Amino acid sequence: MLVTVEGIVLGKRDTGENNCFLDILTNEYGVIEVMAHGIRKANSKNAAASGLFSYSTFCLNKSNLHYTLNSTEPKFSFYGLSSDLQKYSLAVYFADIIKYTSTAEQSGDDFLRFFAITLFELEKENSDRTLIKAVFELRAASMLGFMPDLRACRSCGEYIKEKMFFSSDENDLICGDCAELSVNSTENIMELSDVLLHTLRFTIYTPIEKVYGFKLNGSVKEQFSAFTEEYLLKHLGRTFKTLDYYKKTEENFYE
Ligand SMILES: [Zn+2]
Repeated sequence: MLVTVEGIVLGKRDTGENNCFLDILTNEYGVIEVMAHGIRKANSKNAAASGLFSYSTFCLNKSNLHYTLNSTEPKFSFYGLSSDLQKYSLAVYFADIIKYTSTAEQSGDDFLRFFAITLFELEKENSDRTLIKAVFELRAASMLGFMPDLRACRSCGEYIKEKMFFSSDENDLICGDCAELSVNSTENIMELSDVLLHTLRFTIYTPIEKVYGFKLNGSVKEQFSAFTEEYLLKHLGRTFKTLDYYKKTEENFYE
């Protein structure tokens, strides 16, 4: 059966003399593994549209759960990523998160659109990698079913109070007044500044196409960034080598 899907290449593995397995993020089937015959030959007509992070239309032969690449039509190539080690490493980490959390034949929901928007944002000149990483981590966690409840204090229902705390045990909010009365000493809570709470709310509740539409600086950016990484890794119950690698490239970059 021939199927046509839009997707972004998340990974490539060489196999045989000229062949590759491609991991492709699609809307219809989640992340699928596609055998691409002869793609490493110099004259392969599919090579350009099958590069890492290429956003293309793929025509595939589907047989049971096996896919073979038939033809490709490029839509968008994020060429700018491959010439920038930091950006490229960050995109590889994002791809790793998606690959790890995707189940075969499960629809990708909005992940394809979200990832395309993320790469588009990351590729821009002077893009803020730290901020993009933080937004991606928290929004991805939310889309994967780990959305924290940041609507209001869980006890009194107030949207904002002088002091607001995040409970990492309950993944929700509690205000200062209610915390004094009802939180026992074993619950892990952390105080959130107004700006940090606003940023967290914006990241999980705003429409995807607007999610990168803000700037953040100074210590609140550091707090936001620490929060999102810890939150995502805690809920996935693991870390990623590609994250360590990205951090190394950042250290070398700032030295
Ligand atoms: Zn309250």
